[in-house]
Amino acid sequence: MLNLNGKNALVTGIANNRSIAWGIAQQLHEAGANLGVTYLPDDKGRFEKKVKELVEPLNPSLFLPCDVQNDAQIEELFTTIRDQWGRIDILIHCLAFAGKEELSGDFSNVSRAGFTRALDISAYSLVQLSAAAKPLMTQGGSIVTLTYLGGVRVIPNYNVMGIAKAALEMNVRYLAAELGPSGIRVNGISAGPIRTLASSAVGGILEMIHHVEEIAPLKRTVTQTEVGNAAAFLCSDLSSGITGQILYVDSGYCIMGM
Ligand code: NDP
Repeated sequence: MLNLNGKNALVTGIANNRSIAWGIAQQLHEAGANLGVTYLPDDKGRFEKKVKELVEPLNPSLFLPCDVQNDAQIEELFTTIRDQWGRIDILIHCLAFAGKEELSGDFSNVSRAGFTRALDISAYSLVQLSAAAKPLMTQGGSIVTLTYLGGVRVIPNYNVMGIAKAALEMNVRYLAAELGPSGIRVNGISAGPIRTLASSAVGGILEMIHHVEEIAPLKRTVTQTEVGNAAAFLCSDLSSGITGQILYVDSGYCIMGM
């Protein structure tokens, strides 16, 4: 029943083969979706080459730059989607950023610029991409974002990213309420800690993973594939009655009181 044949799915946030978005892209492909992939462009084009090589086996029909701080690039991205796909069914928002200096030490040391940047890239971007996708989701659709427990509880060193995730999770609810009448569902996955480029910037991430391995009911943290499977479910008709929710894919860690 998990069939995404004929669905056009845009996946953001693939940096390398450890990225959660990579796990999601693989599972969406496996379920039959037609993929579009974005990458964060850099001056020397290194990320473009790396991501392009990685995703080649999934045969994405679109491969485009997307820096969510660049309005013109987002407009171009969705113009291309409109021209080449006609409509979009699935949007995966799987990106975040905060300066390394903001991801350890005292939270109150965060600068105005650091705070604004983290919220802009990690939370506002969901609103912006959803607004751009809305008119192209002509047959309804599913939008999925990635969040973390640090958005609802204080996790050491997560700091400003916790504030960004709290905003992101509220974005999910407001967007779900707005887009529901158009048949568009919006949900978040709160993943357990996984070693990636982004998470390695958070002070003490390895200790956090070990803590989860000790405390979580499943006695391990989760994999990119498990998060990808949950995303495929949320993008499929199997979850047609679910919107505005945060689904915890964390080996059960969040239920524990220690
Ligand atoms: P990755 O580093 O693999 O992915 C983060 C992605 O965000 C990268 O592709 C990065 O691009 C991209 N990005 C950063 N800034 C921008 C920007 N301005 N415009 C567009 N893209 C940008 O890490 P993860 O896979 O861990 O992170 C994916 C999501 O999952 C994030 O929202 C993260 O908070 C969330 N998450 C991660 C958990 C974990 O433990 N890893 C746990 C729970 C949630 P580039 O690398 O090229 O800079």
